Amino acid sequence: MNEMQEKVKRFCIKHDLDHPVEHRLIDIMSELGEVAKDILVETDYGHRGIKDPKNLEEELGDLQYSIITLANALDIDLDFALEKVLEKYEDRIEKGGMGSG
Ligand SMILES: [Mg+2]
Repeated sequence: MNEMQEKVKRFCIKHDLDHPVEHRLIDIMSELGEVAKDILVETDYGHRGIKDPKNLEEELGDLQYSIITLANALDIDLDFALEKVLEKYEDRIEKGGMGSG
């Protein structure tokens, strides 16, 4: 488990924030929605570039926190998961495509 995951784990233990996985998932969706809203506001619904990316910092941090809490609840090492994803994408790029899946 990486340092950030350990930090969030200690925080959750300290503040008794032990919620079910389903709640963690809802939290991720909620925070993702808040990021989307901020981007829409920042770009005037796509009519201009983002004026100040710093305005997205707080909501991206909320999203990151919520993803980490889900990974921690499932005992998933996000560093390991990211390495696997990058290997998967590398393989896809070498084969000529970057579709999702
Ligand atoms: Mg938020």
